[in-house]
Amino acid sequence: MSYEGQMLAQLDMPSRKEVEQALLKILFKHNGVIKEFSSGEEIVEEIANEFGLNENQRIAVLERTYRKENRIVKSLLWHRLLYRAADSLAKEKLVSRPSSTLHLTNKKEWMLTESGFDKALDFLNIPKTQKEFLPIKSFEVQKIIKKLIETPRPSNYNPFDKEKKVVRITRESALRKRGFRQAIIEAYSYKCAFCGMKIHSPDYLWWEVEAAHIVPHSFKGKDDIWNGLALCRLHHWAFDVGWFTIQDDFYITVSPQINSLPHDFGKMGDYDFIRILSGKKTKINLPNNKEIFPHQNSIRWHRENKFCH
Ligand SMILES: [Zn+2]
Repeated sequence: MSYEGQMLAQLDMPSRKEVEQALLKILFKHNGVIKEFSSGEEIVEEIANEFGLNENQRIAVLERTYRKENRIVKSLLWHRLLYRAADSLAKEKLVSRPSSTLHLTNKKEWMLTESGFDKALDFLNIPKTQKEFLPIKSFEVQKIIKKLIETPRPSNYNPFDKEKKVVRITRESALRKRGFRQAIIEAYSYKCAFCGMKIHSPDYLWWEVEAAHIVPHSFKGKDDIWNGLALCRLHHWAFDVGWFTIQDDFYITVSPQINSLPHDFGKMGDYDFIRILSGKKTKINLPNNKEIFPHQNSIRWHRENKFCH
């Protein structure tokens, strides 16, 4: 047995397989990404806590002598075990290495791949059909997000897909759908563009906000960042049925039909979700980057075809 193997056995450290499983679960809990171990010591502690490691197990140091240079390299045994487990997950293509993630996000992080995401869902008994509603990052979806937010903004944008073939749920279209959803809700900081509502489930897994299409799918609207808005469920519904629209300068317009609406409609206690936005100039909450603001061509279509004048 190697010197490292002996130390692992003596200290009764968890097996590499166990650490691999724990890593997948921790990645899931952290939205699919964790910092490279050397720069994020808190994650090293967090996983150690999962295993309930004692002080000796946490601080055991492995010494290796590099004879050629005649120097001794010391590293934490636990840290090395974590790295080896992550490395083995990367070999199985369940996570991407910090060096590859760096090209995608400019951060040195371990990120789940689609297969790693599926495996974590299995461990946690969450059906795969829930994937599209979870804010978990995967390497493949992150590639789509990068493309969505980095493609130069066209001045004359066409928000419609060409003739749509029979809709088939392929792996590719499912990934694109998740890429669109995540790109939108991240761009709007998980907040409704109309009311600013921001809330997640008590276990942090699910966000209330939805990625709405300005030109809807049923009208061949594209899954582009310029054709989307983050909206709470209530405003998503109200926007789709035409109670609200937005102007080219992003100010909200409320349908004049509210004048014929019974006065007790649209109220939650004292909060009147429609009338509160009529009569005063309110702009929607926008992303930080102008390049990904909704496109005027999408907005115009909504004003002319969905809004109730
Ligand atoms: Zn809202």
